[in-house]
Amino acid sequence: MTSTIPDGAKYEAEIAGGVCLVDVSALLRQHLKKRYRARKKLLTTLFVHHSGADNGKDGIEAIKPMANWHVGHNNWPAIGYQFVITRRPAFVDKSLVIFRVGGSDTVRAHTRMCNRFGDGLCLQGHLGKEPLTSFQEECLEAFLPWWMETHGRNPAKDLGWHSNSLKWGGVPKMACPGKNAVAWLRTYSLLSDRKTVLAVHPSDVGK
Ligand SMILES: [Zn+2]
Repeated sequence: MTSTIPDGAKYEAEIAGGVCLVDVSALLRQHLKKRYRARKKLLTTLFVHHSGADNGKDGIEAIKPMANWHVGHNNWPAIGYQFVITRRPAFVDKSLVIFRVGGSDTVRAHTRMCNRFGDGLCLQGHLGKEPLTSFQEECLEAFLPWWMETHGRNPAKDLGWHSNSLKWGGVPKMACPGKNAVAWLRTYSLLSDRKTVLAVHPSDVGK
């Protein structure tokens, strides 16, 4: 469990009370020559993934094997996602930590055909076999509204996941991010939609 920001990592932002974003991209393996292209299209959609396995590691050590696989095996420039939420809590001081692993200004490699306009968030674990941890739920509840507000998007429309990426012209991977994550995200998305409706309703009263 990390209690201080490791050398080379950067504190990026407090995204909600008690939850912060720490950039560890400089600590992860990169391809010797290849680099991801700069994003030119508007960033409109967040795609959620899972890692497909709990490697049993925590904090940055949980992320390094993902970056090693993406570079060493897939021959990608660097890890394919922009964000990772580990399975077990990571802390800086008393804040929970979500990891930034790549710039949102780069076109990465998480969701085929959708990377030019989409950020990728990976949840560590196999969420078809195991549930989200309460830490992951807490992080998502902080992260999703932060990401949507930062980019002026609506979670009811702009939150996707690998298996439903066809909706945005993507190439879906049906096993990702797993049925437990999909159920959670679908509920979150529906509730956000209902909140939007409720928020609009009072202003309609006087019309
Ligand atoms: Zn995926």
